[in-house]
Amino acid sequence: MVTTIDCANDEKMAADLERYLSEQGYETRIDGSLVIITNDKNIKKNLESFIKNTQKVGYEILEADSGTFVIAKVAHIEDFGLSSCEICGFVASEEELFAHRRAHGIGFLM
Ligand SMILES: [Zn+2]
Repeated sequence: MVTTIDCANDEKMAADLERYLSEQGYETRIDGSLVIITNDKNIKKNLESFIKNTQKVGYEILEADSGTFVIAKVAHIEDFGLSSCEICGFVASEEELFAHRRAHGIGFLM
């Protein structure tokens, strides 16, 4: 069973991850920004602790398919000056949301 971890073109992170995982007892191989492991026990948990231990703020682990994980910096809507409505999840600027929230009616104005 082979699992590929795609570091999204970040070769430095791939090198760090490869070292980290081999310290955890994985058989690892590196190919550019891809880290390939052959014993994938609890890999997701270990990827999460890698992100935490190396303080990669804003990075998330995405499971692309059963044998591929992607570690990438995920852009959040706040980074674009947008927010989302607490009630329905509608995404817009703060000004637009002010009017939008009122459209939900009196229940929101407590
Ligand atoms: Zn709404």
